[in-house]
Amino acid sequence: MMTKLTARCLCGDVTWQADGPVSWACHCHCESCRRATAAPMTTFIGVRLSDFQWTGAPPGTYTSSPGVTRSFCGTCGTPMAFQASRFEGEIHAYAATLDDPGRIAPEFHVHYDEKLPWLHLSDALPRYTANKTAAGNTATDNTTVSKTEDQ
Ligand SMILES: [Zn+2]
Ligand SMILES: [Zn+2]
Repeated sequence: MMTKLTARCLCGDVTWQADGPVSWACHCHCESCRRATAAPMTTFIGVRLSDFQWTGAPPGTYTSSPGVTRSFCGTCGTPMAFQASRFEGEIHAYAATLDDPGRIAPEFHVHYDEKLPWLHLSDALPRYTANKTAAGNTATDNTTVSKTEDQ
């Protein structure tokens, strides 16, 4: 999709850059992301960990569930990234923290069954009830993923 990505938190202490392509981009409606971002939904991009590096202050981390690490700015609190043992070799960054978020084109929704009733969306993107962010994991995309594996 593109070859260079940069992002920053609200105060600018935590920054990252990625030299590889965006693997995918999607909207997530799960309750965990809702609480972690204090927003009705959030938008992720998937980047290979081998392409990704933190370039500013080291982020704080929080283990939101077993095997799941969320990174945030310890100064201003901006959520920065999501990593899970089930997505080995991949980091999920919040598209809204990109220096140029308008360049991202989200491709689908996940956890759409958890979408808040007052949020009305008119896009024609595919809506999935289970987590569909594992690249190359299409065999299980349409099956139900346990709630305990939520983000
Ligand atoms: Zn900050
Ligand atoms: Zn989520």
